[in-house]
Amino acid sequence: MTLDLRRIFATDNSVLDIDGSLDMSDVDIYYGFPLKKPVKYHGTVSNSSSMVNLNLQIDFEVCAPCDRCGVLASECHSVTIDKSLAASLQRQESDTIIVVPDMRLEVDELVYSEVILNLPTKHLCKEDCKGLCQKCGKNLNEGKCGCDSSEPDPRFEKLRELLNN
Ligand SMILES: [Zn+2]
Ligand SMILES: [Zn+2]
Repeated sequence: MTLDLRRIFATDNSVLDIDGSLDMSDVDIYYGFPLKKPVKYHGTVSNSSSMVNLNLQIDFEVCAPCDRCGVLASECHSVTIDKSLAASLQRQESDTIIVVPDMRLEVDELVYSEVILNLPTKHLCKEDCKGLCQKCGKNLNEGKCGCDSSEPDPRFEKLRELLNN
């Protein structure tokens, strides 16, 4: 979606609603195609006292195997963008300003890069996922497996031998 913002820049107290979605299902990152559902975004571009601001909320769902237990899990995430738009940059570069030289905003490009930047580096089925048993591979969220999780320490083995004699 390309927004033509010439009217907004020219008109004080004008507002333009943004509402759309973006297919990012072909994004193959970390754990293979996690954005199965379309990314949704909504917000406004508004001119108040000749300051043009962009407010945008982006909602996306990561659907991928849990980092610990490998079970497929979905989690929703939101990113909020709150920036000024300017036709040219008066002062130094600023990350609170998006420059739109021809007063057009490529919303899809913006949404795409914000989602990529904000993809979680950690994806768990639940915060306290117990993961898999290192020995038998059982999913420990479903219960204990009966493996002895305490590795014998060779220093204590000697002690145990002495105590047993
Ligand atoms: Zn898990
Ligand atoms: Zn086990």
